[in-house]
Amino acid sequence: MSKKPNRAGRHFLQIPGPTPVPSRIERAMVRPIMDHRSQEFSDFSLRLLEELKVLFKTKHPVIMFPASGTGAWEAALTNTLSAGDKIVMFETGQFSMLWQVMAKRLGLNVEYIESDWRIGVDSSAIAERLKADKAHEIKAVAIVHNETATGCCSPVAEVRKALDDTGHPALLLVDTISSLACVDYQHDAWGVDVTVCGSQKGMMLPPGLSFTAVSPKALEVSKSAKLPKAFFSWDDMLGPNEKGFYPYTPAITLMYGLEEALKMLHEEGLDNVFARHAKLAAGVRAAVDAWGLENQCRDGKYYSNAVTSIRMPDGHSADAFRKLVLENFNMSLGAGLSKVADKVFRIGHLGDTNELTIIGALGGVEMGLDLAGVPHRAGGVDAAMAEFKKYAQVEQAKAA
Ligand SMILES: *Cc1c(COP(=O)(O)O)cnc(C)c1O
Repeated sequence: MSKKPNRAGRHFLQIPGPTPVPSRIERAMVRPIMDHRSQEFSDFSLRLLEELKVLFKTKHPVIMFPASGTGAWEAALTNTLSAGDKIVMFETGQFSMLWQVMAKRLGLNVEYIESDWRIGVDSSAIAERLKADKAHEIKAVAIVHNETATGCCSPVAEVRKALDDTGHPALLLVDTISSLACVDYQHDAWGVDVTVCGSQKGMMLPPGLSFTAVSPKALEVSKSAKLPKAFFSWDDMLGPNEKGFYPYTPAITLMYGLEEALKMLHEEGLDNVFARHAKLAAGVRAAVDAWGLENQCRDGKYYSNAVTSIRMPDGHSADAFRKLVLENFNMSLGAGLSKVADKVFRIGHLGDTNELTIIGALGGVEMGLDLAGVPHRAGGVDAAMAEFKKYAQVEQAKAA
């Protein structure tokens, strides 16, 4: 199809990240660059590093690298582990797979617990491995909190409990790239040692910043970790950070955006942010049920409040469907990745979004299903509206 002329209205970027950047954040970034060695910068950056802790629910340092989330993955591994160390990972989907490939490339001995890309981390499978490891050869358990490829969310506190129940000293590393600021996450209370995040999903920022929250235990272990690290060395960062500085030029413009994003999240209140994501996810799932389509996440225990991955009926191409929706309704839906390529499409419902953006997105999907001749029942949008009305009634009753 030839390129469409400029279109009225906005493009619906309904993928699970990067997510739309609110205009408040865009405007906050249109500011002159400041001197990154100045007192003004130091004050600004110290404030930011403090406020970031609130988001991770930690009292300990959060390290910020100018990198996509993948950079923080690498920092988490290279700062805590040594060549040949054994680590346990769980196959939730594409992102656990990529992190696991990285761990192997770095020279770690990865025990990858296989699964079918339709659930989150099964904490009992992790518990079994830990129990069997009497010699404590396992140095870390690394899991993805919200598997963006499948729309499955993992019970991090259960994995912590598995470590505690067996008295196992392994570190707990968690990827929250598509869950932080979408669903509740408690770095300290859940005893997580390293939490990894990126800017472009729930945090509503452009891509380019990555975050690593670090426990005192992880910091201690990092002193003897021998994997090579240079750019991603925590040590090089933490010293200058104490005074609000960086060992190299920080991503100042993105930091302006981060300041505004944190302001927005705190104005709404984190609990309200989580409740909003839960509501929008419930609406999307109501639509999927009404259409008679299947959620890629096969167990309700693991439903993600950030993204829903929907299986295409056999014989129908998810990619052709997404193309049709893009060309006709100017909406981008998330693609199926590797194992589920062309088999699922994903609706992102995270970040700067509300009931009506979701109704719009679901309307585009429902029209697309019709036009593509995908077998389904009508009424998905109605089901989502009914869900949102229920929430509105509860909220009204509370306010009265
Ligand atoms: C997006 C994503 C990543 C990769 O992050 P990049 O910023 O693309 O490097 C890793 N893990 C999860 C769960 C993600 O959603």
